[in-house]
Amino acid sequence: MRKFTRQTKIIATIGPSTESEKELIQLIKGGVDVLRLNMAHADHDWIRMITERSRKIGKQLNREPAIMMDVKGPEIRTGYLHRELEIKEKDLLDLVFVAQPNPPSTDGIWQIEVNYDKLPDHINAGDTVLLDNGLIQLKVINSSKEKIRCEVQGDAILKSRRHVNLPGIETGLPSLTEKDRRDSLVGIECNHDFFALSFTRDADAVDLFRSFLRDNGSDAQIIAKLEDQKGVANIDEIIQSADALMVARGDLGIECPFEELPIIQRKAVGSSLSAGKPVIVATHMLESMIDSPVPTRAEISDVANAVNEGADCIMLSGETTTGKYPHECIQLLTKIASRMEDEIQPGLTENLKLFRPKAKMLRSAAMLAMRLENSAVLVFTRSGDLAAKLGALRPNGAPLFAFTDVNGLHRRLRLIWGIEPFLMDFSKDPEVTIQNAISRLSKGPWIDSGDQLVIVTNAFAHDKVVESIQLRVVEL
Ligand code: PGA
Ligand code: MN
Repeated sequence: MRKFTRQTKIIATIGPSTESEKELIQLIKGGVDVLRLNMAHADHDWIRMITERSRKIGKQLNREPAIMMDVKGPEIRTGYLHRELEIKEKDLLDLVFVAQPNPPSTDGIWQIEVNYDKLPDHINAGDTVLLDNGLIQLKVINSSKEKIRCEVQGDAILKSRRHVNLPGIETGLPSLTEKDRRDSLVGIECNHDFFALSFTRDADAVDLFRSFLRDNGSDAQIIAKLEDQKGVANIDEIIQSADALMVARGDLGIECPFEELPIIQRKAVGSSLSAGKPVIVATHMLESMIDSPVPTRAEISDVANAVNEGADCIMLSGETTTGKYPHECIQLLTKIASRMEDEIQPGLTENLKLFRPKAKMLRSAAMLAMRLENSAVLVFTRSGDLAAKLGALRPNGAPLFAFTDVNGLHRRLRLIWGIEPFLMDFSKDPEVTIQNAISRLSKGPWIDSGDQLVIVTNAFAHDKVVESIQLRVVEL
């Protein structure tokens, strides 16, 4: 049995550094499992172009990555600026709701546009407003319908279209904006596999988004992004209603006291694991590698920690959108993850609830594969549930092959820890299906003669179909 390089999956955000055909080929060959398209920066023609391009390359390379559209949700941003502004401690700054490409106004008070005109209804004197991922801090002095007057805390440079965070303040923004709807329709048209919902605050937000997707003919899965205090408070219901969770540490680290971040991450990963839902740890994993060919020692430990905690996926953002070393980042994540995985004591997720009898059998199959030399688990799945539960058990070191006859599901399964998915027609006769699967595996780098396959499958017992676990030695 080939030693797989890693079981933790990698998500890469696509941008100028990685959008060309040549770069995408390298990324997919390098083992990226999911491509993320961030709607904060992308336009619709680019989305169509990049989807077609990566799907074509995936087919050519016989390794189709899943595509995730990340919709922005209730996000507030500052407006477009012609030039960067040098703002100083104690400067006055008005947040206004009409475009201001060339601030400041003549009386020396900065006029900065924000894209949400109901903000004054939700803000009070003394509140804190953070711009540009918390780099710029503003203290609110007073607010009226037209403007929110603030005092700048500390010297800073303000650039165009910066993120606005309001820690602990309920903004009253809808969970799905008009822009989100327009963007999602393009994602639906492109048959995107996942939609990530920014600033998911409760289960209702997920349900509303799901209805929108279903009403428009998409059966894509929803990844809830945990980004603020409300989301953290409602984490259990969010995990229940979403298909997967993303620990979006960029915003989370601003919206919550930052010393809470590691605790929230650990709890989010643990709760997702027991619920059998995939979980992604995102943002700043190799941030210094946007400009540097080597990571910091702290970043190496952070990646290893996410793997050790049991994340399904680790994600890159700036590192692969505008960074200088996207491929080195993928190689590094692979190296760090696979090394850490070797260290994890084999053992299955204790508190994962398995309901269906066939799902319960997975625990024994996974245990068997971990105990035997050179062995892997092979499952067949139409809903994806069996593969999701198998991955959630975390059978360290045992390759997990999942075959499906549902087009599209073979891409979605790439999000799940350890699962190597394949698309193949199923025969009415389970034995023929098994033989076809083994033959398919033998054509790739997956199995060798003498390997042992633990197969979870239906089998005929006289004229009855029974569920079974079989152990077969590969003979090629
Ligand atoms: P973003 O989400 O990159 O879309 O902001 C991730 C995060 O906040 O960490
Ligand atoms: Mn975010």
